[in-house]
Amino acid sequence: MPVLVMKFGGTSVATLDRIRRAAKRVGVEVAKGYDVIVIVSAMSGETNKLVGYVGETSPLYDAREYDAVVSSGENVTAGLMALTLQEMDVPARSWQGWQVPLLTTSAHSAARIEEIPTDNLNARFADGMRVAVVAGFQGISPEGRITTLGRGGSDTTAVAFAAAFGAERCDIYTDVDGVYTTDPRIADKARKLDRIAFEEMLELASLGAKVLQTRSVELAMRYNVKLRVLSSFEEQSDDAGTLVCAEEEIVESNVVNGIAYSRDEAKMTLISVADRPGIAAAIFGPLSDAGVNVDMIIQNISEEGRTDMTFSCPIDQVARAEKSLSEAKDRGEINYHDLVADTNVAKVSAVGIGMRSQSGVAAKMFQTLRDEGVNIKVIATSEIKISVLIDRKYMELAVQSLHDAFELDKVT
Ligand code: ADP
Ligand code: ASP
Ligand code: MG
Repeated sequence: MPVLVMKFGGTSVATLDRIRRAAKRVGVEVAKGYDVIVIVSAMSGETNKLVGYVGETSPLYDAREYDAVVSSGENVTAGLMALTLQEMDVPARSWQGWQVPLLTTSAHSAARIEEIPTDNLNARFADGMRVAVVAGFQGISPEGRITTLGRGGSDTTAVAFAAAFGAERCDIYTDVDGVYTTDPRIADKARKLDRIAFEEMLELASLGAKVLQTRSVELAMRYNVKLRVLSSFEEQSDDAGTLVCAEEEIVESNVVNGIAYSRDEAKMTLISVADRPGIAAAIFGPLSDAGVNVDMIIQNISEEGRTDMTFSCPIDQVARAEKSLSEAKDRGEINYHDLVADTNVAKVSAVGIGMRSQSGVAAKMFQTLRDEGVNIKVIATSEIKISVLIDRKYMELAVQSLHDAFELDKVT
């Protein structure tokens, strides 16, 4: 029988009633003749609560135990979903990641999927099971420890299962009815896209649009999975939601197709470092060893052999960055006068594959922010995106005004 993957996010399984609603949707697909793999997230708020417990118990926690704790929310919803389906007379059972087994690397809290053997589930499908409910977000390391795939990781579980089982489609049910030109919760004028190219979705996700985890888009692109994002709260037709697909399958497109934001950024500046060969390596080597994800970097003009070096990183890595730089200073590897952390910044980005062939996007972005009186602190560009770091208090204003300036509310 053809296989379908259906993933339900936290808000879609937040109560028993919602689990029932989701199960009904699954029942409809089973009735159409599909064998269904359902991937569930934890009930909304649950993972945050568990992360909080870990931090309170042990600030510098053992990452293996972190994963043991935070993965547990998904176990509850997987069991409840299987029970709900059984109550509807749909043959179903739940699987935790290790039971499948979903094999991952041992990079705890950010593990990558290595392999999903299909024989276990297929044997049960052959026996008459119609729905395998799999706990998202979790797997098992080569050492036999429970791992998690990073926040939002159930999306990646879903796409990986779709690829492994050659599913006809991977449907991501969430609390919005598709991918929008920007987060519909902060811009009323956000427009739902019928289709979005893998590359654009990948860029939007990595720049903060949390509707899909970045890695899930990467996998869908690599294995050509038919990936759809749709609402678990609305009645659905066959072409509901947003299809994430190859660029060639898209007819209508603007130069800029999306605005993304990331609220939790920090800007760090090393004041007066010696400007000599090897200085960047001496600064960013220890940061990388300490697991700091450096994003944007600027080296200022140097005066009398000294310069300022600025970089951005996630706000929760500031303490780690400060520690590793001051240790490098103590070891005599770098020498700076001061390290200044600005934790009141956010990143706003414009994304569009049309930028490859059209100039003027950066200028328009900078003019728009100037007209709103928003100061730009750091700029980064790539082939299909422009990102700026600004004061966090202007983030929503920046998103809305850029959305207006690039006329994303319509196809131009
Ligand atoms: P789930 O729990 O179902 O995985 P998430 O909260 O992870 O849901 O992702 C859905 C949320 O992503 C939406 O509620 C929305 O606020 C946010 N979002 C951010 N950017 C976008 C976008 N461009 N289009 C749609 N939703 C977006
Ligand atoms: N429950 C996990 C999280 O909140 C995984 C997910 O929902 O995708 O990050
Ligand atoms: Mg999510």
